[in-house]
Amino acid sequence: MAPEEARRHWAGRIRGFGTTIFAEMTELAIQHGAVNLGQGFPDFSCPDFLKEAAARALYEDWNQYARSAGAPHLVTVLAGELSGAFGRELDPLSEITVTTGATEGLFIAVQAFLEPGDEALLIEPFYDAYPADIALCGAKSVHVPLRPDERGRWVFDAAEMEAAFTERTKLVFLNTPQNPTGKVFSRQELEQIAELSVRHDAIVVSDEVYDRMVFDGFEHVRIASLPGMWERTVTLGSAGKTFSVTGWKIGWAVAPPALSEALRRVHQWVPYAVTAPLQEAVACAIEEAGPRDYYAELQQMYQAKRDFLVRALEESGFRPYVPEGTYFILADCASWGFASDTEFCRYLTTQAGVGAIPPSAFYSEAHQGLARTLVRFCFCKTDEVLSRAAAKLQEAYRARGGS
Ligand code: PMP
Ligand code: GLN
Repeated sequence: MAPEEARRHWAGRIRGFGTTIFAEMTELAIQHGAVNLGQGFPDFSCPDFLKEAAARALYEDWNQYARSAGAPHLVTVLAGELSGAFGRELDPLSEITVTTGATEGLFIAVQAFLEPGDEALLIEPFYDAYPADIALCGAKSVHVPLRPDERGRWVFDAAEMEAAFTERTKLVFLNTPQNPTGKVFSRQELEQIAELSVRHDAIVVSDEVYDRMVFDGFEHVRIASLPGMWERTVTLGSAGKTFSVTGWKIGWAVAPPALSEALRRVHQWVPYAVTAPLQEAVACAIEEAGPRDYYAELQQMYQAKRDFLVRALEESGFRPYVPEGTYFILADCASWGFASDTEFCRYLTTQAGVGAIPPSAFYSEAHQGLARTLVRFCFCKTDEVLSRAAAKLQEAYRARGGS
């Protein structure tokens, strides 16, 4: 069959998709030998205690199918680790489901709870998988944009948020700490979203994969811990971020039994079960992380990298929005004088030698103008790579007449 003919067989629901912005910009960065501050993945080794646990798991023969909803060791360790933050004793067997990264958690939540024609609320800028998952099941995304206030904090307008909820709203996507803004939603903001979700009987999917990367004493509040929210919230986590192993794709979904059961009805047909030896390794690593003070070290390391990149960006004509969490920085690049964020990111990657992500990929078509002078950089890179990126940005800025 000729390629054009084969394309005629494509289902309508995938026809609107190109390749993701991360794959596209990584490819471009590789082609041009650019320092890659685009796609968010650490360029340094994961902790030795995690590698050792993985090697042990292979030799101990954790090599056959795991329990579909998650290896008993991992869900037990997660329940112990998370119960405090959720303000309740989590039941490992009925309330925690191990997923193939948080990406699978997002997909199965949408499949489990959305019908074609339903509405799902997205806060912009959003992680790009959300609208894709919603489109795949024939539902509709409704958008509420964040805008920077006078102090540079990303905030939503309460009236706009309220107006976005309708009788068709079935799911609300929340991401805190948020990629790409680095926003950590305050308790008060979460209370507003919680109140609207209860009033409209919506389920909340709370993507908290960056929960261990919160800076400057900001508090990571889990919406599931607010009154009336446990029953209607699916909280997603990922070992990829916390342990610097984005390639492992070990994630989890925490939800009450009735919601977990719905997730598992989809999960059993998607991967059936998740990579067994890596589940065992992550379980062992979580047990070791606390006593080793790993989380505090991770947080301090990222805060120092954030501070370095914020300063470097300021010195190169950007106005960075200082992130409260995550390993991303959004910066305003208006002074560089480009017509759009995609044009700027192409120039940066191909000519200045620094890969970055154009944030318009995180906005609906109607609101893409809000990203026109924005650029996203990640700082989950070695100090040496960050320094090289900083030098290249300065050089390019000077060459364009900046000082
Ligand atoms: N949600 C957000 C906000 C992310 O940034 C990512 C990381 N790419 C994911 C979900 C996906 O996580 P995972 O790699 O565990 O599938
Ligand atoms: N979450 C990563 C980022 O925002 C990318 C993940 C991916 O490539 N799908 O950069």
